[in-house]
Amino acid sequence: MDILQNFINGVYKDPVNSNYLDNIEPATGLVYGQTPDSGEEDVALAVEAAEKALPQWRIMPLEQRADILYAIAQGIESQLDELALAESIDNGKPVSLAQAVDIPRAASNFKFFAHACSQFASESHSMTNTATNYTLRQAIGIVGCISPWNLPLYLFTWKIAPALAAGNCVIAKPSEVTPKTAALLGKICLDAGLPNGVLNILHGTGSSVGAAICNHKKIKAISFTGGTTTGAAIASQLAPQFKKLSLELGGKNPALVFADCDFDATVEQVFRASFANQGQICLCASRIYIERSVYEKFKQALVDKAHALKPDDPSMASTQMGAIVSQDHLDKVLSYIALAKNEGGNIIAGGEQVQLTGRCENGYFLQPTIIENLDNSAQCNQEEIFGPVITLQPFDTDQEAVALANDSQYGLAATIWTTNLSRAHQLSEQLNTGIVWVNCWLLRDLRTPFGGMNHSGVGREGGFEAMRFFTESKNVCIKY
Ligand code: NDP
Repeated sequence: MDILQNFINGVYKDPVNSNYLDNIEPATGLVYGQTPDSGEEDVALAVEAAEKALPQWRIMPLEQRADILYAIAQGIESQLDELALAESIDNGKPVSLAQAVDIPRAASNFKFFAHACSQFASESHSMTNTATNYTLRQAIGIVGCISPWNLPLYLFTWKIAPALAAGNCVIAKPSEVTPKTAALLGKICLDAGLPNGVLNILHGTGSSVGAAICNHKKIKAISFTGGTTTGAAIASQLAPQFKKLSLELGGKNPALVFADCDFDATVEQVFRASFANQGQICLCASRIYIERSVYEKFKQALVDKAHALKPDDPSMASTQMGAIVSQDHLDKVLSYIALAKNEGGNIIAGGEQVQLTGRCENGYFLQPTIIENLDNSAQCNQEEIFGPVITLQPFDTDQEAVALANDSQYGLAATIWTTNLSRAHQLSEQLNTGIVWVNCWLLRDLRTPFGGMNHSGVGREGGFEAMRFFTESKNVCIKY
């Protein structure tokens, strides 16, 4: 049995209340470990440690701070296989995906912000002949980072790295559903020379330790990635406390496929955008709009690929589609498939749970599922399903495609598939999403602003946007 501990002040510790939660492997449905069910007392200990560490950490020369962050990245890289396997066991994702994407990206997050902290600068404003203003951007102090289960170490480090780079001490909570790689990160940070108390990692439920982090008076900012409902609850909890808050929330991402697209490449990429990580990426395409003249051909190509993609044991190198993260989440996704039928949708591929044999006979597997014939106002086209389920709709004109895409409470990421450059530019301006990818998906430059509009979030991560979030700006005005 793999029993995890909190990481506080550079030491692995049991939770104060000695309570644990079961950790389940989604591919087998079996309990394989336990996770601390931490509470307020653990947050208090972590804040105490962070307070002690803060004075030295915030004044550490940038070069030294950057060296430590770089060493953490190298530590992650040196344990790539072990971390990838842990991520796959915890989350159900194919180990090949964790090896190729999740863990390398976690290392890149630390490398990127190791460099960013030495390049981050602030403005000066001259009042000619009268005064000069300059802006200081100073660490906030102690900040909280809360992340979801879908890309566990990838998103955990996407918050922690800039928070540390900006000179803050961090109290971080991974999802209770996927705590393993976050737990391993503590030791990597110790080995890299991160001073005790600078990063504290607490495990447990959102309603207990997550809420305690949000409520602690000495934690001055919260960076949260997760569902829109949770984000709304946190926003209302934090508003009277006047804390800085960054929210990266859900999505219902449109893909706009035009008849002039590079057909084969687009089929390949739209399919990947739909079903990577079992469709459990906030950026996954879920509403596929296809120009009517190529609708039937494109649909058939997607259906053929869906039939060929078989969920299997995520620990096998050849597996391309793994397990859904939990029984609860599988039930939620299945309930949307049932709802789609009630709403008049046709299931043209998949739709069924998959029972494997052997080790994975009780795992949470689901066929890649394609639905058509649903109106844009259907719940399955408006609500985030967050699984391997997409809907298809035809359109006739550019403006109809944009109107369908924008008919959503969400606004995270859109993709446009066309060889008409002018159309690509024009529609990119018109789409109400924080990110538009043209003829690609999930092509990431870590310097770019990352985040969504409307119910997909408030604020942006990435590059200097993240450094700005994790600092307070202060104007200094000097009269001549
Ligand atoms: P949740 O909102 O359920 O949880 C996210 C994190 O918040 C978890 O660590 C959770 O803890 C914690 N949490 C839950 N309630 C509270 C609370 N009241 N106070 C503080 N923390 C709390 O999201 P999921 O984990 O289910 O993740 C899936 C969602 O994340 C999807 O909607 C997806 O779109 C979104 N997402 C958005 C991304 C973006 O960049 N915009 C990227 C990736 C995912 P615990 O799980 O331990 O209860």
